[in-house]
Amino acid sequence: MNRKEFLKRSLLGAVGIVGATSVVNTLTSCCEQKPVVANAAPELKLSFQEWVIHGQTLTEKLDIMESMGIVGLELSGRGLAERVTEIQQALSSRKVKVSAICAGFDGFILAEDAAEKAKFDSSMREIIEAAGAVGSTGVIMVPAFNGQQPCMPHTLQTREFLCEQMHELGEFALKHNTTVILEPLNRAEAHYLRQVADAAAICRDSKSEGVKCMGDFWHMQEETSDYAAFLAAGKKYLQHVHVASRATRNMPGEDGAVDNYVDGLRALKELNYPYYVSFECGCKGERSESVAAAVELLRKQWSEA
Ligand code: MG
Repeated sequence: MNRKEFLKRSLLGAVGIVGATSVVNTLTSCCEQKPVVANAAPELKLSFQEWVIHGQTLTEKLDIMESMGIVGLELSGRGLAERVTEIQQALSSRKVKVSAICAGFDGFILAEDAAEKAKFDSSMREIIEAAGAVGSTGVIMVPAFNGQQPCMPHTLQTREFLCEQMHELGEFALKHNTTVILEPLNRAEAHYLRQVADAAAICRDSKSEGVKCMGDFWHMQEETSDYAAFLAAGKKYLQHVHVASRATRNMPGEDGAVDNYVDGLRALKELNYPYYVSFECGCKGERSESVAAAVELLRKQWSEA
């Protein structure tokens, strides 16, 4: 085909596309038009673990959080069942909601020792019930820390066992209007589950809407890309995010330039992620000053993402 012929065919093709578009437009205009509603701008919903925010009492902590526009409170699962009424009353007239419940159970799900496994089963279910009662998005859990022994071996059979067990837990959580959230950790703490995409695949294979996963920017040193990790879990499975400084696990910003969360935040924006980014970290400086600076840093990076 010479150049002249190519141009002629291209033009004919273009006319064809315009014609086809007109037909589609005509067909569309015959039908009832639904108003196009623009997606609301993704919102950065910040949360603090109860022991990370300053303040002497829960009321004082909540007052500080509200004054800073913090909308989530993450609680420990330890002793939660005894605190349900306290938490419900404390939050009844607040904008702050329970963002997540962090572990707090006895035993562990991959325990080889039957008594340890039984302790996990009963204490985890008690926490799930309490989590539902205080309106939590879910209960965070780790299948096994490195130090928890004896542990089931890292085999295909163990993964199948984990998926079956997670299915049961997920279904139990749904009955209590909450979920269970798998947290991958770095290899120094847990070699079993280290990456967000792996956790998301376990969610998928557990076949329960009540099984979700999360990413923790501190542990995500295991990932090659924060952005890809969050997108791999996607809206279907990603239910919570933890944040800390990236070199020493203190307040975001306290480690300087390495505290860059922009790539991960960009993924959350693209997913229109509706849950929380929750502070799970220590603090090197004066707490009230470090908290204010960290919140400002995250909001700045969110706007840049
Ligand atoms: Mg964490």
